[in-house]
Amino acid sequence: MLHRLTISELTARLARREVSAREATQACLDQIARVDGDIRAFISHDPADALAQADGADKAIAAGADFTRQPLLGVPIALKDVLAVKGQPLNCCSKILGNFRSPYDATVVEKLKAAGAIIFGRLNMDEFAMGSSTENSAFQTTRNPWDTARIPGGSSGGSAAAVAADECIASLGSDTGGSIRQPAALCGCVGMKPTYGRVSRYGLVAFASSLDQIGPFTKDVRDAAMVLEAISGHDPRDSTSVPQPVPHFSKQLTRDIRGLRLGLPKEYMVGGLAPEVKAAVDAAVKQLESLGASVQEISLPHTDYDVAVYYIIATAEASANLARFDGVRYGARVDGADPLEMYGNTRGAGFGAEVKRRIILGTYVLSSGYYDAYYLRAQKVRTLIRQDYLKAFEQVDAILTPTTPTPAFKVGEKSGDPLQMYLSDIFTIGCNLAGIPGLSLPCGFAPNAKPGAPDAKLPIGLQLLGKPFGEETILRIAHAYEQSTPWHKERAL
Ligand code: GLN
Repeated sequence: MLHRLTISELTARLARREVSAREATQACLDQIARVDGDIRAFISHDPADALAQADGADKAIAAGADFTRQPLLGVPIALKDVLAVKGQPLNCCSKILGNFRSPYDATVVEKLKAAGAIIFGRLNMDEFAMGSSTENSAFQTTRNPWDTARIPGGSSGGSAAAVAADECIASLGSDTGGSIRQPAALCGCVGMKPTYGRVSRYGLVAFASSLDQIGPFTKDVRDAAMVLEAISGHDPRDSTSVPQPVPHFSKQLTRDIRGLRLGLPKEYMVGGLAPEVKAAVDAAVKQLESLGASVQEISLPHTDYDVAVYYIIATAEASANLARFDGVRYGARVDGADPLEMYGNTRGAGFGAEVKRRIILGTYVLSSGYYDAYYLRAQKVRTLIRQDYLKAFEQVDAILTPTTPTPAFKVGEKSGDPLQMYLSDIFTIGCNLAGIPGLSLPCGFAPNAKPGAPDAKLPIGLQLLGKPFGEETILRIAHAYEQSTPWHKERAL
């Protein structure tokens, strides 16, 4: 059952030499063989390479490796298919990248390797991270481990499902408008989007560069702190990475939360919120109060504009970023009579419908005559949204919201209606627009009427939002809540 362990449990056993990294890696590979035919979180993985890395970790442990210097030594961690690993395929779950392989490691991959992690497997996602259900992958649809008739969330659905199904010990995803927190909530794991600039984006394929951040999916809050600590830090190769010291997040977790002030945005408890989600969040608020935090209502008055502003800025940036996929620089090419026809043929065949929709929308809002009315206006409203948060943080230490309006929906339920799909990120998008850190952790379950399974249930997520570079505070609050509730101990399979 080694695949079921958390990072802190596994590394404690590895350090005591009770188990080997090879055994832990093999347990994950066995779990993949057992369940991934149904879950379909992985689009590829290389068992021989994973075991070879595990043997390397075992050698280091036998030679007396120092776990304080290599806190992830021997821990199998899988990656969303948007992060570069030298020599491995990188597709962003799109057809347009063809058989492209990364010529270098992303900074986060270098950092995970330096911390001793075993990097294995490519995880399914919505094409170019555009989506909320992982149904936009050009390769396959990932299923929610709590109910395979339902979606795992997106765009990092593979990263969430793999952790929830114990196919890896932890994973990385990327979050542009909720793509870590939303699938973490729907799959019942912990997911964290760091402050913009905390983690280097070098080696992350860009979707919307001013919003994208890489972050961890884990089985508990301590593990999220450990992975975040390993991947954070200034990187001269990413000009938006911020030279801020990286706190020892995992050492700060057990500090008391007594006296901390939490804000509940009144704009978030609105129509469309499922009653079981509201009940779980209300109960979490009471629990946090019983731990000594004080809770007050706050206001984020521009919340109504979050989704509209996001879909202008994100599509504008995506249309520019995706111009590089032209049949010349990377991957697939469909020839034509001249270069223009070749570009058209390549992009026409290579991109899926959602990606095309966004490129067209983004090109439109940036075009002359519309730029001022849409893009420029959206940038101004984005500033107001960020100011709302900064103002709220003058009164409170963290903000509490539901992560999603509903538990996981059914496969196919929203795929024909992009607007309905976009609204599933209504609570997560503000955090990216404001550039602040956010975390989702399990806060209960909704009953799930499932034929043949009378006690079936679906996870619900609680979102904590923090001040810029205030990850330490939201991790501490999350940890105190988690340790006083049973939710994180429940496993999907
Ligand atoms: N679901 C949102 C979108 O489709 C967010 C995606 C993300 O965070 N990568 O754009």
